[in-house]
Amino acid sequence: MINEHDLDAWDYYSHIHPEKPMTMNDYQRLAAETAIYSSAHRLLYPALGLAGEAGEVANKIKKMLRDNKFDREGVAAELGDVLWYVAALARDLNVDMQDLAKQNLDKLYSRKERGTIGGNGDNR
Ligand SMILES: [Mg+2]
Repeated sequence: MINEHDLDAWDYYSHIHPEKPMTMNDYQRLAAETAIYSSAHRLLYPALGLAGEAGEVANKIKKMLRDNKFDREGVAAELGDVLWYVAALARDLNVDMQDLAKQNLDKLYSRKERGTIGGNGDNR
């Protein structure tokens, strides 16, 4: 059953697309409207889904090698599924996608400046 919350989400979605660029937090909020897993399965459901979708990306790439056929749209669609699960997992961790993205770039640019992009270890 469609409720007022659904209508608000649709109204919001219809107004940000395509005229206004969607922020990562916009995406996370809108994606959450399509999340139907039980709160009892927070973290676990999106973590498993993320692993599954990452596998689907890898499988598409594998099939491209096997069939010598480029499936750009198929891989892109699977990356979208990966993004959904990243957003859901971040939401379950109470982390904004915008903050997640910024922290990741901060880490990578710090490594770049210090010449430690290559190598191993989370804390380099
Ligand atoms: Mg998929």
